Amino acid sequence: MNKPGAWETVIGLEIHAQLRTRSKIFSGAATQYGAEPNTQACAVDLGLPGVLPVLNAEVVRMAAKFGLATRSTVAPRSVFARKNYFYPDLPKGYQISQFELPIVYGGWLDIELDGGATKRIGITRAHLEEDAGKSLHENFHGMTGIDLNRAGTPLLEIVSEPDLRSAQEAVAYMKKIHALVRYLDICDGNMQEGSFRCDANVSVRRQGSEEFGTRAEIKNINSFRFVEQAINYEVERQVAVIEGGGEVVQETRLFDPDKHETRSMRTKEEANDYRYFPDPDLLPVEIDQAFLDAVAATLPELPEARRQRFIDAYGLSADDASVLTASREQADYFEATVDASGGQDKLSANWVMGELSGALNKAGMDISDSPVSAAELGVLLQRIEDGTISGRIAKQVFQDMFNGEGSADAIIENKGLKQISDSSAIEGVVKEVIENHPKQLEQYRNGQTRLLGYFAIRNRSTSCCASCLMHDPASLR
Ligand code: ADP
Ligand code: MG
Repeated sequence: MNKPGAWETVIGLEIHAQLRTRSKIFSGAATQYGAEPNTQACAVDLGLPGVLPVLNAEVVRMAAKFGLATRSTVAPRSVFARKNYFYPDLPKGYQISQFELPIVYGGWLDIELDGGATKRIGITRAHLEEDAGKSLHENFHGMTGIDLNRAGTPLLEIVSEPDLRSAQEAVAYMKKIHALVRYLDICDGNMQEGSFRCDANVSVRRQGSEEFGTRAEIKNINSFRFVEQAINYEVERQVAVIEGGGEVVQETRLFDPDKHETRSMRTKEEANDYRYFPDPDLLPVEIDQAFLDAVAATLPELPEARRQRFIDAYGLSADDASVLTASREQADYFEATVDASGGQDKLSANWVMGELSGALNKAGMDISDSPVSAAELGVLLQRIEDGTISGRIAKQVFQDMFNGEGSADAIIENKGLKQISDSSAIEGVVKEVIENHPKQLEQYRNGQTRLLGYFAIRNRSTSCCASCLMHDPASLR
């Protein structure tokens, strides 16, 4: 921002999480990603005359899970509504969504800020809706192709309060929701495939002002990095508009990831009037306590509880516990490593966050595709603990394991990396070194204690390799 402190940023996110059901929200067609265009759209998805939508019970369970996990109210009664607009990828001429009575409302989630403080972000509502189809512009000369496979895919739209105050906070919140829906196993979180995306509502106001400024809504952002870039660009743009004597207009904008900028799509004047009304084809959704209790019984341990348990049970720092519970896969991997290593919790934490995570990043891999399993890493850590190898050698062994050269034990054996921990064998080596260097021994005894390092090198040379001897050819005599 041009004048730090003069402006405050206000952000609210609308996150679309695609629910992981096998069939669509109102039809039996498959939801699997990547099929040939229009092979997974049935008469209901196409909106043919005479068909009726039937609600998929699984989406109700998934929305209820999310509601319970965010301390929201799961509405005893919610209603589907028609949101009317015309677009080629929307065959019915309306999208079935929820409007006045969403299935989930009034919850919250804590995010961690730099320096360890937490901040509570309100969740206004989360409602169920169907996705639209997709327009295809490539390979159609002068025309647009329409793929309706995605039409009718269930979405949970999660709307936050305008509680976020910076791009970093927005990203922290989005990551928190991303981790949560994956812990709950209600969304695969795949952002490249569009299973998890968001609209960012951004405005600025003078520091200390009570009222919100006019907001712009940046549509369909599908990566954490883009969310940050889009918001930062938008804040600068709005501040420049106001400081240049202009006014921010309420509008919908698109983020261009190549140019790192947002562009106007439509202004409020051109905005649709959606003429929402309750969908007469669908009954209201009624949820009773017995249903909620049954859903509550299926909830896994949630990220915050798991983070606290990692602190209490393994003695990890709050920061380490946050990193390790950031995804369910990573937390599972860590716990499996602790088990396999015979309970070495801190060492496991250091290795999962250090060597493993570094190697995965470098290879551009996900922890679930790690070439080294938690069980194999656990064995390596045992070899450090039982003194077979040093921590330094272990890093080398780990790289070999990562490159597919075999198990820890096989690599240690094949490469002769075992360190000598038999004290009588070491004593023998020490004796030999001292005997072979009487001059240095004399000097050492006369107070030149820095020569200890010299002996250490000789010591290594005896048991190590020829190149060590070359540090000082004189010692070869
Ligand atoms: P709409 O339905 O038109 O998208 P909502 O009132 O439901 O509008 O708000 C959508 C999102 O915009 C919410 O996440 C909300 O927190 C956020 N929001 C509302 N007003 C502002 C504002 N002035 N600045 C930033 N975000 C805002
Ligand atoms: Mg909106």
